[in-house]
Amino acid sequence: MNPQASNAVTAANVDLSNCDRELVQYSGAVQPHCVLATVSETDWRIVQLSTNVQELSGRRAEDLCGRNLEELLGVDQVRQVKARIEREVLTGVPVHVIHAEIGHRQVHVFAHRIDQVLVLEIEPANSDQPVLDIYSRVRAAISRLQTTNSLQAFFEDAVAEIRELTGFDRVMAYQFLADGSGRVTAESAAPGLESYLGLHYPASDIPQPARRLFALTWLRHLPNVDYEPVPLVPAANRMTGGPLDLSYVGGRHVSVMYSKYLQNMGVKATMVMTLLKNGQLWGLVSCMNHSRPMFVPYETRMACEFLAHMVSLLMAAKQDAENYEQRLHSGKAIDLLIEAVARSGSLQVGLTSREFNLANVIECGGAALLTGDTVALIGTAPTKDAIRELGRWLSAREEQLVATDALSREFAPAASYQDVASGLLATRLSRTASDFLMWFRPEIAVSVNWAGDPRKPVEVEVLDMETRLQPRTSFALWKEEVHGRSSPWQEWEVEVVRGFRHALMEVIIERAKELERLNRELEKSNLELDSFAYVASHDLKEPLRGIHNYSALLHRSASERLSDAEKSRLETVLHLTQRMDDLIESLLQYSRVGRTELALQPVDLNGVVRSVLDLLHSRLETAKARVQLMRMPTVSCDRVRVREVFHNLILNAVKYNDSREKLVEVGYASASTPVFYVRDNGIGIEPEHLEDIFQIFKRLHARDEYGGGTGAGLTIARRTVERHGGRMWVESDPGHGSTFYFTLSPSAQLEARA
Ligand code: ADP
Repeated sequence: MNPQASNAVTAANVDLSNCDRELVQYSGAVQPHCVLATVSETDWRIVQLSTNVQELSGRRAEDLCGRNLEELLGVDQVRQVKARIEREVLTGVPVHVIHAEIGHRQVHVFAHRIDQVLVLEIEPANSDQPVLDIYSRVRAAISRLQTTNSLQAFFEDAVAEIRELTGFDRVMAYQFLADGSGRVTAESAAPGLESYLGLHYPASDIPQPARRLFALTWLRHLPNVDYEPVPLVPAANRMTGGPLDLSYVGGRHVSVMYSKYLQNMGVKATMVMTLLKNGQLWGLVSCMNHSRPMFVPYETRMACEFLAHMVSLLMAAKQDAENYEQRLHSGKAIDLLIEAVARSGSLQVGLTSREFNLANVIECGGAALLTGDTVALIGTAPTKDAIRELGRWLSAREEQLVATDALSREFAPAASYQDVASGLLATRLSRTASDFLMWFRPEIAVSVNWAGDPRKPVEVEVLDMETRLQPRTSFALWKEEVHGRSSPWQEWEVEVVRGFRHALMEVIIERAKELERLNRELEKSNLELDSFAYVASHDLKEPLRGIHNYSALLHRSASERLSDAEKSRLETVLHLTQRMDDLIESLLQYSRVGRTELALQPVDLNGVVRSVLDLLHSRLETAKARVQLMRMPTVSCDRVRVREVFHNLILNAVKYNDSREKLVEVGYASASTPVFYVRDNGIGIEPEHLEDIFQIFKRLHARDEYGGGTGAGLTIARRTVERHGGRMWVESDPGHGSTFYFTLSPSAQLEARA
């Protein structure tokens, strides 16, 4: 944003309502310990100077401006500066260019380039610690830090080391949380100071502009919070015509909001270092002095900055190490589950029915597998209906993976089960279907200690006759109970789930390919078997007919010459060949069902069932059976084949029936596609035989009992139905009757199962 724009917020007009937009880099002044000079590198003339140059050199800033830099630093030192910066880009954080002497004072000179000028910062060099001593202390600190075994211990050590090195009253490690607020995670403080450990600070305590600067520079130091800012003269940088951008200037005059805030906390001096994790702002190391102002010399600052770098680097490694064990456990669970799914060929069986299940993948209270409308639950989880509803919500979202530690804030109905599922990590199993894996974490009612009431972040104070907002002045401990939150899902856990999903998808796709291959093979071998059965039975019929005919002839022509015993044997031969012919005929029919194309057309089933009843007329009359026929629909099917199905079922209903009043009901249940049934009040079937009866030549009774048969009828009927894409099954109450059901299309098959 242009700092000269009419709505720009700078040091001149900032208050709490607009401090989020304050252009803190255009404060136009520095702190007293720092002398700032900018020069144009074309002629080495001074462009702007801070007025405190007078204390250092004895000359007024106004007089020096426009003069050659040599008048401030001397010919030799300017030559040194030029030589030092010649090949440097210097567009970022200032670098130390020389240790100089101005007016018998030892100073450090730092330089960087911005806004078409070279910016020189000059600060006193009066370190009483020899550099070598600092170096060996830092080295020792780092090797100690490397050996700590928990992340917490690591931070505690780090803040203690930095306090030792600098002499501040208090050093804290401060971590930014996902919502922008922050928490003090470790602290080292002088005896007698009230502890800030565990305190939470609302997001507004560190406004956005300050965060931007934190990410820009590693270390900021404020030696005296109660300082008087030292202005730059002239106010404008003549090279650009605007104020100088002080983003990188270490001794920049800070936002009044910041110094007021520190004063309210009773702080006299601070130093803040940035902690980055994987390039992102993670937190701060914040040093405070409550007793008095304190200037930290350049050498010590370097050492601290270096330590902060090391902490940033080591922190990521420590955290990874801490997660290592859990990762190992997750990895093992995933391997076992993938194997179980591959072996069983079922997600449900593989993921939910064993000792090792979905809930072992990551730390959770419970888990669920949602496939279509089917829910499998493990552990403590919401109800099945709630999970279906959650599935619909997830389906409507684009993401492949959703992770939240405050579910009810995103999905209001979840408030009713936030005790078991404030945390949800869910991943979709296929792009098209609504199949999900879900993990749940229970609510943890956390009690947060805020530094001040977070709901009243500002206090209004009358100042200079105008109302100005101020950072809060009350730092009384303020406890807040936080509801509807679970412990957060760690980044690595989300990654683990992502990997798990990937592996599962591979298994599912492999499995589908395998099934397709098996189906193709099965289809092929079925066809081969059918044609074999057809040829074999066809070829058997010829010789069988010969045997039968010749035996019949013999029986007739030679009957006078044969003894009774011989005649009876010949009759048995005739009987057996007849039976064999029936069997071969059945086999032929069976193989024909598999081989011939169906002649599908709309068929009025009323006509079909009527013709069957006509055919069976005398049979029904002899048996004194009553048939109740419902009005039947018209469906698409092969008329001749479906007539065979009804024929077989109605005939069986009469045959296997010894009730005095035999009753056969024929009808259908209307779903979106009909489920047909033939019901009898006959002898019924024992539960263990409900599937057997559909096997070829399988009979439950002696050959001639109940009118006899080959035992192929139901096999052929079921095969016919399956060729239509339907299904046939039976329900029976032994001694009371049976009902045979069938469908003639695939969708009805699914409904029938459900
Ligand atoms: P079959 O030609 O012997 O009747 P099916 O394949 O039609 O052969 O039937 C197989 C067996 O199933 C029959 O032998 C009988 O034991 C049993 N069965 C079939 N229908 C019924 C029924 N409605 N009630 C009781 N048992 C039946």
